[in-house]
Amino acid sequence: MGVFAGKKGLITGVFNKQSIAWAIADRIMGEGAECGFSYMPDKPDDTRQKNLNRVQKLTDGNPQVRFLQPVDVTNDEHIQAVMDRCGSELGKIDFLLHAIAFALPDDLKGDTIATSRAGFKLAMDISAYSLIALANAAQPVLNDGASILTLTYFGGEKTVPGYNVMGVCKAALDSIVKYLAYDLGPRGIRVNALSAGPLQTISGRGAGVDEMLGLYEAMAPLGRNITHEEAGNSGCFLLSEMSSGITGEILHLDGGYNSMGSPGRLIDKF
Ligand code: NAD
Repeated sequence: MGVFAGKKGLITGVFNKQSIAWAIADRIMGEGAECGFSYMPDKPDDTRQKNLNRVQKLTDGNPQVRFLQPVDVTNDEHIQAVMDRCGSELGKIDFLLHAIAFALPDDLKGDTIATSRAGFKLAMDISAYSLIALANAAQPVLNDGASILTLTYFGGEKTVPGYNVMGVCKAALDSIVKYLAYDLGPRGIRVNALSAGPLQTISGRGAGVDEMLGLYEAMAPLGRNITHEEAGNSGCFLLSEMSSGITGEILHLDGGYNSMGSPGRLIDKF
């Protein structure tokens, strides 16, 4: 029996096989979890339903997958609908994974100082506020003692040129984790963030992962990048009762990169 035997929950943010959300979902389903999945709705004129099809390709035939529901997190009705579906199809839930971020490409390409007002609002809404919106709407269906996990990045703690407005969103997200941990603590509900090093994903590529991979390999104490499997393992830990007692925490999964105060083994290059 796996550590998630009898546990049910909602996974957001699966786009394709490379998504960190999929690495975590796959890992916890291997431990017995039953999951409902939300995915970004296809545009009404996209008759091929590419988003739905990509998720279906991963989940089809898996009896532990209980439903697929389109949710755009800027839409409160979508959020309420997926929580209603959790209630009707899963009863109470034991975990909620938030693995969602977006910023306009132009706001990632330019300097942070040139971020547009509309782009800032959109990035904050999707990448930070959505954790509040999902957690709040989930309250009636969350079991006491449930675990909420989000995905963050070091660019919210320190300046990472190129990460730009997304770094500002991650700073807000890290703070939201701590405030929600306080709000939900009396029910034993934990709220944590996994701060992953660069991983090749669709969003990651848009946020400059390609350039970061070499830097991490050269600078991190472990001398390598993290893997999707490791993201699955750490996500499994934080979503499970193995991490009971941990809340309001930002756990770095980055080969130790964040602990460095100098270029370390890269110093010869200077
Ligand atoms: P991904 O592209 O696979 O996942 C991002 C998800 O966000 C997609 O499923 C996308 O559909 C969803 N999304 C975007 N806008 C949405 C909206 N309005 N409503 C609902 N969903 C929406 O990429 P990923 O790298 O797996 O990203 C997951 C999380 O991990 C993000 O928060 C990202 O910032 C974070 N993260 C990624 C890395 C990395 O290197 N890839 C590192 C640290 C943190």
